[in-house]
Amino acid sequence: MNATEPSPLLGDVAQIACGPRQGKTRPCAACQTKAPGLLTLAYTGTPEALAAAICGTTPDSCQDCKTKAETIISKTAQPPRAA
Ligand SMILES: [Zn+2]
Ligand SMILES: [Zn+2]
Repeated sequence: MNATEPSPLLGDVAQIACGPRQGKTRPCAACQTKAPGLLTLAYTGTPEALAAAICGTTPDSCQDCKTKAETIISKTAQPPRAA
């Protein structure tokens, strides 16, 4: 039994935070590292806090990162996919 299997959402969160790029299939290492914290914020924090965490600047995050935050929150609000 592997109790530490990462949530498939983590990959999605990392990808969204990193941003879509043509030909890019994986988020960069920095975004993968940030993903668990971003996922926690998506569940427990505000959209502003999540956007700031993605952007890396406070108190104001850019519109791009606000959009990413909303995308992540809409994803995490969905029930898990059935296997
Ligand atoms: Zn990245
Ligand atoms: Zn930003």
